[in-house]
Amino acid sequence: MHLLNADLHCHSTASDGSLSPGALAQRAHAAGVQLWSLTDHDEVAGQRAAREAAEALGMAYVSGIEVSVSFAGETVHILGFGYDPDNAELQAGLAALRAGRIARAQQMGESLARAGIPRAYEGALALAPNPELVSRTHFARFLVDSGHCGSVHEVFSRFLKEGKPGFVPHRWAGLGEALRWLHGAGGVAAIAHPARYRFTPTEEFALFSEFQAHGGRAVEVTCGSHFPDEVAKYADMALEFDLLASRGSDFHAPDESRTPLGALPDLPGRVTPLWTLWADSLAGRRPPRAGEPGPAPALVAAANPAPSAISAS
Ligand code: AMP
Ligand code: MN
Ligand code: MN
Ligand code: MN
Repeated sequence: MHLLNADLHCHSTASDGSLSPGALAQRAHAAGVQLWSLTDHDEVAGQRAAREAAEALGMAYVSGIEVSVSFAGETVHILGFGYDPDNAELQAGLAALRAGRIARAQQMGESLARAGIPRAYEGALALAPNPELVSRTHFARFLVDSGHCGSVHEVFSRFLKEGKPGFVPHRWAGLGEALRWLHGAGGVAAIAHPARYRFTPTEEFALFSEFQAHGGRAVEVTCGSHFPDEVAKYADMALEFDLLASRGSDFHAPDESRTPLGALPDLPGRVTPLWTLWADSLAGRRPPRAGEPGPAPALVAAANPAPSAISAS
């Protein structure tokens, strides 16, 4: 199961990606992805379209999300999988999270105006297909489009990282709160891109310990923003904390993302893939063999009519 081409992390126009859920499904399928999840920030609006498009292509789909959490003064992203997107409590929690984004974006606009960049809030909002999900990514795209910076990466370095003029501190969900929402909706949780947080070893230990104490099951070991030594480190931490391992590109846009959909290294052999939880649903299907002609054999979706998710039993 290590060799399954699973890509369990990407973003659509429902959050800060540039492609629709349907276009992402096609791109994932064309890249040979066999198990896919759309994980928009704080938003389930793309889930139905993603599942339908994946099923039409014969590609296995598991519901996904990336929830913004505040922990030890840092923003941490928690991925959720296999949950019911119609769960009322989860939806209410996410709606509250999204509501906080507008006020934050207005403050970012004021802050950037003081740094000499006028009308950034209006500019970012105009680039956000989902106005409730206006994010730093939309500000970055606006600053590039308006000629203030040469790339999204440059915008983050100069304006949007903590300590820079456009950065506005924000309080997201609590760790326990986010996990309660996901578990209440029947899902499982994974720590996203753990190498990207600026934690001391003690803080990182606290994150993993508390995550596990709240019932979190997995950590993203292989992902678009992990270097090989970081993959090895978090494979070891997955074993230390008895967590399953996830794999995802964190793809946002064709011209922005370093890692294309479905083009990640395999998980290290010593970890247990998250998708072993869904082995029953995936049973009977297999990854394509090297050199095999034709498209990858279809995976579970068509045989799994459950409306909400591949269930995470
Ligand atoms: P927000 O949720 O509004 O704080 O925006 C966070 C998003 O900004 C992340 O999900 C990434 O898509 C993007 N982001 C954060 N840091 C960087 C960076 N250094 N370069 C490019 N994009 C980034
Ligand atoms: Mn993003
Ligand atoms: Mn993230
Ligand atoms: Mn992401």
